[in-house]
Amino acid sequence: MIQDDLSRDAEARLTAVRDRIARAAGVAKRAPADVTLIAVSKTHDAAAIRPLLAAGVRDFGENRVQEAQAKWPALREDNPDARLHLIGQLQSNKAADAVALADAIHSVDRPSLVEALARAIAAQGRAPDCFLQINIGAEPQKGGCAIDELPALLRQARDAGLPIAGLMCIPPAELEPAPYLALCAKLARDHDLKGLSMGMSDDLETAVTLGATHVRVGSALFGARR
Ligand SMILES: *Cc1c(COP(=O)(O)O)cnc(C)c1O
Repeated sequence: MIQDDLSRDAEARLTAVRDRIARAAGVAKRAPADVTLIAVSKTHDAAAIRPLLAAGVRDFGENRVQEAQAKWPALREDNPDARLHLIGQLQSNKAADAVALADAIHSVDRPSLVEALARAIAAQGRAPDCFLQINIGAEPQKGGCAIDELPALLRQARDAGLPIAGLMCIPPAELEPAPYLALCAKLARDHDLKGLSMGMSDDLETAVTLGATHVRVGSALFGARR
């Protein structure tokens, strides 16, 4: 596809997603500006990302540290105010790379990772916003800390000095997401946490009405992933 077509498609998709966020925020009497749109650019190359940067999107999400390291230094040269969110499962041995690269990490989910991030933050003197990921549907194959382990993980993360922005969850696929998103919102309220990273292409309205502060939207902005 030539760049003009890419730009037109990207702008149309972006307008549609922003309209969806605004409508849902309106229903919930929230300001659309209180919801940060994170464009999840995993698997998409710079040519697909640049039109969204040109259209004003500033927050982007990547799943893998290595992929982000390959794409973002060059994109940031022209867009120094772009913010990078790491949203995928993170190995502790990648913590230093993640801290060096990311403005926010949405997948802090276990004590060993909290320790590794705290060490990296101390060594580098830079601290990404951290979201604690909850395994909200208690799914064995998924990352995230168990709900009953949240208080201890939160205490450890606070004691270690991580800047805790809030909670993140991915509801079970194939099930109605609202109860899981509502539960995550309740956990955040119970623990006085402001940030709520939830809502993807298929459930962002539900997430926004339930209080999401950060929606992570991939396919609705970029088209289907290969
Ligand atoms: C891929 C991904 C998304 C975006 O999903 P879409 O359904 O394409 O919007 C959001 N969050 C996480 C953690 C992801 O891995």
